[in-house]
Parts: sequence; C-alpha cells; structure tokens
Amino acid sequence: MTLPNPRIESERRLIALKGEIPSPINPPSGCRFHTRCPIARVPTPCADQEPPLEQKAPSRFAACHFSEKVRSEV
Ligand code: SF4
Repeated sequence: MTLPNPRIESERRLIALKGEIPSPINPPSGCRFHTRCPIARVPTPCADQEPPLEQKAPSRFAACHFSEKVRSEV
C-alpha cells in the first residue's frame, strides 16, 4: 500500500471529461477511453490498438499508449 504524498496531492488537477460515456455492452475499439480522452491519438493507435497493462514502477501500472506523456499534457 502506498501512502498519500501531500506534495503530489496538492499538484493534482481535476479533469472535466466531455462526451458521452460509451456503452459497456458495445465498448469502443482500441482503448475503451479514446472517445473521451483529452490526449487520444485517433485513428491510431488509441482507436485501433488496446493498450496493454504494463508496470511503470513498483506497484504502479498503466494501460495507455502515452502514459509517459500524461503528466505533461493534461
Ligand atoms: S491509450 Fe492512453 S492516450 Fe490513448 S485513448 Fe487510451 S488513455 Fe487516452
């Protein structure tokens, strides 16, 4: 279990997602989040390829083609 870090928590920003939530019985192709993701690259790879779940650091996992860019672009 990871304890909260006050410095990181103070830098967090809320992201207001736009668009409709996809149907869970007919989810989008590729990354299930690509229709609402603010950094999606469409048509590829986000709409075409499901990102694999990868370990980025101890106890830290991400399923995103651009997980390394998320902090700098969002
Ligand atoms: S793979 Fe990452 S960047 Fe692409 S749509 Fe999904 S969450 Fe967004």
